[in-house]
Amino acid sequence: MKKALLYEPQENGNVICHLCHHQCVIKNDHWGICKVRQNKKGTLFTWVYDRIIAEHVDPIEKKPLFHFLPGSKSYSVATAGCNFQCQFCQNSSIAQMPRDQGRISGIPMTPGQIVQSARNQHCQSISFTYTEPTIYFELALETAKKAHEQGIKNVFVSNGYMSEEAITMIAPFLDAANIDLKSIENSFYKKYCGARLQPVLDNLILLKNSGVFLEITTLLITGLNDNPQKIKKAAAFIAKELGKDTPWHISRFHPTYRMKDRPATSVTSLQTARQIGMDVGLQYVYTGNIPGDEGESTFCHHCGALLIERYGFTIQKNIIDDQQCPKCQTPVNIVT
Ligand code: SF4
Repeated sequence: MKKALLYEPQENGNVICHLCHHQCVIKNDHWGICKVRQNKKGTLFTWVYDRIIAEHVDPIEKKPLFHFLPGSKSYSVATAGCNFQCQFCQNSSIAQMPRDQGRISGIPMTPGQIVQSARNQHCQSISFTYTEPTIYFELALETAKKAHEQGIKNVFVSNGYMSEEAITMIAPFLDAANIDLKSIENSFYKKYCGARLQPVLDNLILLKNSGVFLEITTLLITGLNDNPQKIKKAAAFIAKELGKDTPWHISRFHPTYRMKDRPATSVTSLQTARQIGMDVGLQYVYTGNIPGDEGESTFCHHCGALLIERYGFTIQKNIIDDQQCPKCQTPVNIVT
């Protein structure tokens, strides 16, 4: 348990947490929506500062980040908890653990130990992933600072619901992020995630303007967010506000958690959504969770040359030369 950042005590003993857009008002002895931050006598504490629930060395492609240090290893960590309650959560056993099981498990690991472990395993980056990094902000921030001191990059894989204050604090140490755009409809966020759309849209722009390298992910769920007009609207937002060269991953949903009754998204739906994104003008649109699909690979948006060939999270071939297509010299938005 550690004293939290970004909260405001009230005269009546409540505290307001300013870490994410829920802005929870928390009474004494109560918890915020994320169930990992507790008010104790007017002081807000985090219960996940040093309780790592998952740590693995992953290919950076698994985040997914296809345009940031391709082919590199990323030391990936998480604590339990999330500030969303997505009914289709793909990591519910750890992300929804505090809410569903009433417990916060994990092994003690300090920021210094996380960075050392990343170094020992020759990782070029540390990814704060699997659950929502915003809710373990104190750990992520301190670790990210130490990582930079050692020349290691930092990555957030996030729902993008952090407050502006949180972004201002983490941005100088955050090199890249994959942010979910779960839908372009507020009603979807409200009904299926317990959140709102607008803060996510605002944060995407803020992160981009703060110099964080951005990729976007949308989990496509049949009948819920696969309407072609809505996909077009999401693509238009990305193209206009974040740039046509922003990579967009459209991933396949598999029935899980509270949506076991829904079918897995069809390959055709994913390929159609990818085509819509490209028709809007996005230069790098990927299909996710369909190993072997053409949509896993990177093509030059100008001449069509195959630049990076992937199978799943593995790179088979990479011919990008100095951040440009070797065939036609068109620049490629990639960090190498
Ligand atoms: S992080 Fe978000 S959900 Fe958790 S207590 Fe703070 S405002 Fe509430």
